[in-house]
Amino acid sequence: MNALNKKSIEDIEVKGRRVLVRCDFNVPLKDGVITDDKRIRESLPTIKYLLDNGAKVILCSHLGRPKGTFNMTYSLAPVAARLSEMLGFEVKLAADVVGESAKALAAELEEGKAMLIENVRFHAEEEKNDAAFAKEMASLAEIYVNDAFGTAHRAHASTAGVADYLPAVCGYLIQKEIAIMGGALSNPKRPFVSILGGAKVSDKIGVIKNLMEKVDTLIIGGAMAYTFKAAAGEPIGTSLCEKDKMDLAASLVKEAEEKGVKFLLPLDSRCGDKYDPDCNTIVCNVEDGIPDGYMGLDVGPRTEEYFANAIKDAGTVVWNGPMGVSEWKNFEGGTVAVAKAVAESGAISIIGGGDSAAAVEKLGFADKMTHISTGGGASLEFLEGKELPGIAVLNDK
Ligand code: ADP
Ligand code: MG
Repeated sequence: MNALNKKSIEDIEVKGRRVLVRCDFNVPLKDGVITDDKRIRESLPTIKYLLDNGAKVILCSHLGRPKGTFNMTYSLAPVAARLSEMLGFEVKLAADVVGESAKALAAELEEGKAMLIENVRFHAEEEKNDAAFAKEMASLAEIYVNDAFGTAHRAHASTAGVADYLPAVCGYLIQKEIAIMGGALSNPKRPFVSILGGAKVSDKIGVIKNLMEKVDTLIIGGAMAYTFKAAAGEPIGTSLCEKDKMDLAASLVKEAEEKGVKFLLPLDSRCGDKYDPDCNTIVCNVEDGIPDGYMGLDVGPRTEEYFANAIKDAGTVVWNGPMGVSEWKNFEGGTVAVAKAVAESGAISIIGGGDSAAAVEKLGFADKMTHISTGGGASLEFLEGKELPGIAVLNDK
């Protein structure tokens, strides 16, 4: 996929046109109150560009999992209220998605103003990418803009289907994601170092395989390191291990060797006697392995230095997956050390994956990274080299 070649909002005339914009307004809510409005704030550049250029903006999004019913717990009303505050005029919310209310509001919409239709997942047809439903939604507008990177890996009616009926372009958020991530993958500044961690080898096989073709160094931490260690015959105690993936792990190590890719596994681990933030901890070296009754929950101090050294001269870093259970103070050290090394390297740094992004933010390194992808699952599929349906449907330049 030549994702960089997609038309954006700047490539089309929007003045006086009704523009349907798929945003990611899937914000966290507590008792009907938005606890973090980052996703709304991030969508503003696209919305403001359209408003400033005289478009009539019809916003849409999903929120939570209402499972195809009008469950008002998942109404976009709090989003409409927050958008109204941010934009300085009332952003009206239709009572439905493609019904009378949405059509009436869309018809009376003025240039330079925006409205919102209700949660697209109030209809089961959304996730089924039902053609009639997509056509109905498309009939509200004359142009379609996709700016929801977080759902771009899903072929739903509002993320892909509507593009069958309207000229389709990307907004700034998607444009930025594909420019930075696509650029790093297709033309990386070298050395290109990829850091992979997190829970499971099985979740990341596609990413490992795709990156193996491109990187100079592959660093493996997190729980998935123990499947590789077990495959190499190292005792791993009660660490997480995917026994059915050990052969694959061994073959990936061999493949790296054949390709001349440096493949770094942890030299030591911070281990606990149970999966609990208050467990007893010991550090185990690769030479001895991990004794029975202990599990590796983070990389150890030797590894921190080893990984930091491999990162310090990098030109490009793609990082997915924390180095340990970074949610717990005792086991955040490896992730902090890697984040620090990435920040200090001056490399173009890209963080993909939901938990990785959360860890980097929580640990205070967010503003030191070049790009933190807004889409967890979508960024993983992008790093796997897969075509994302929500981007594939957009018009080429
Ligand atoms: P991402 O969402 O960034 O793709 P993952 O979901 O693959 O990342 O992995 C994140 C999870 O992996 C975190 O919940 C973290 O606690 C867990 N994890 C990391 N290292 C270990 C480990 N050694 N043992 C158990 N869990 C781990
Ligand atoms: Mg995750």
